[in-house]
Amino acid sequence: MNASHASLPATVDHLVVGAGFAGLGTAIKLAEAGEDDFLVIEKDGGIGGTWRANTYPGAACDVPSQLYSFSFAPNPDWSMSFSPQREIEAYLTEVAGSSGTLDRFAFDTELTDARWDESDQRWHVTTSRGEVVARTLISGSGGLSVPKMPDIEGIDSFAGEVFHSARWDHSVDLAGKRVAVIGTGASSVQIVPSIQPDVAHLDVFQRSAPYVIPRSEHHYSRLEKLVFQHVPGAQWAYRNAIYWARELYVPGFVWNPALAAPAKKLALANLAKGITDPELRAKATPTYTIGCKRILISNTYYPALAADNVDLVTEPISRITPDAVVTADGVEHPIDVLVVATGFQSTEQPIAAHIRGHDGVSLAEVWAEHGMASYKGTTTRGFPNLFQLVGANTGLAHTSMIVMIEAQLAYVLDALATMREQEVGALEPQQAAQDDWNADLQRRMRRTVWNTGGCSSWYLDAHGKNVTLWPRSTFAFRRLLARFDAENYDLQPVRTIPIAEGANA
Ligand code: NAP
Repeated sequence: MNASHASLPATVDHLVVGAGFAGLGTAIKLAEAGEDDFLVIEKDGGIGGTWRANTYPGAACDVPSQLYSFSFAPNPDWSMSFSPQREIEAYLTEVAGSSGTLDRFAFDTELTDARWDESDQRWHVTTSRGEVVARTLISGSGGLSVPKMPDIEGIDSFAGEVFHSARWDHSVDLAGKRVAVIGTGASSVQIVPSIQPDVAHLDVFQRSAPYVIPRSEHHYSRLEKLVFQHVPGAQWAYRNAIYWARELYVPGFVWNPALAAPAKKLALANLAKGITDPELRAKATPTYTIGCKRILISNTYYPALAADNVDLVTEPISRITPDAVVTADGVEHPIDVLVVATGFQSTEQPIAAHIRGHDGVSLAEVWAEHGMASYKGTTTRGFPNLFQLVGANTGLAHTSMIVMIEAQLAYVLDALATMREQEVGALEPQQAAQDDWNADLQRRMRRTVWNTGGCSSWYLDAHGKNVTLWPRSTFAFRRLLARFDAENYDLQPVRTIPIAEGANA
């Protein structure tokens, strides 16, 4: 049962946006804290977020599932270390079902506008299925949810099937077809080896080569699953071992790329093993410092590139015709299907265009000039009672985002407790606190390989500013968000004014 087909409540205490890890985690933690008057709206038809949307062939997580899962909902039944998308979606659905919160989820319900009303200290939210007024707006709408389509001349004239990796069209049978994949990021590296055996011919259009290290896949045995299930502390210890191995090594080389020499060696050995042809190998060799872009994992990507029916095309694309991709050297690459694996709108948080704070100014407008910036990646000056999960500079390149989401949830729940205890009607971070937080972030960012490694990536915005990643350890983030620091906020007492009528009109 869920609230999808019932009418939406007119008012709630908390309106949560998104039913992925962040939104579901919020629902569970709100219910646990006794903050029961909430609604989760989700534009899609079910639980899962990115793990429901990305169904492309080969989709799987590249962080081990024992860590890429809620700490409060361990799953002893993961089939393997890097779980496939379907298993993660099923996990989230199961966790949602057993949490007892599903009756407060409204699916197929998209936020189209949210406006802060100072007079009643409420968010007035318009959705595709009606209006809701809420005391707080908690967004778990995802940092990588809106596809970025490439701006290539003629792409709209292509007569065959064309779709983005995150909107895979399963009705299209690729068997025997000539297929092009544009992009060589994390999605492409999983798609290419999955479709290569079926297609007649595959052109992979690469703008810059990724570093790809081997994937040390481990299938859990029955015995291991029994141990996880029945031996107290075993799964917790295993999860911690994965956490610390990533935490202690990887952030080091973000600061000091020399420490990445073993990873680079591993990637180049993986390349040499997978591709024997020196010309192709040269084309697939990255030219920037390892770690500048996300390091990818695959044992099958390079062998797929080396297959007889695959061409790695490194000439820039100049245009697309109704039946071909044309590269700058004038060569026409005839195709039947075009797969666009060009990533997501990562540096703007697309929901920001729909959220309007003081004076009706949108978050997108506030961020337009200097890029995304919030306080602790969670709250933003000018947008009272708005909490964003996976907000500005909370992304990670080395470990599980669920660790960050849980740290943010602890902070949000503590903020809500403060609001109740101190009868706070509205809170927003002080400008100075937000500015200091971001100045410190950007100072730390200057030395990282993401900024200095000689690549362009989805981490950087149009100004070259890294507005997506967290430049410190995740335990530093957890520590900084462990307590709601009311002293860095402007707090307004609750006003006893009735909710503004027709405020959404
Ligand atoms: P991405 O990493 O942003 O990769 C996009 C690719 O498309 C890049 O190779 C990029 O080239 C290329 N590209 C973009 N615009 C282009 C254009 N106009 N013409 C030609 N090429 C173009 O996107 P993604 O692969 O979807 O991955 C995004 C993120 O999602 C990942 O970094 C990861 O955080 C997450 N993800 C995770 C997994 C996993 O856990 N296994 C899987 C998929 C995605 P340049 O490199 O030259 O810019």
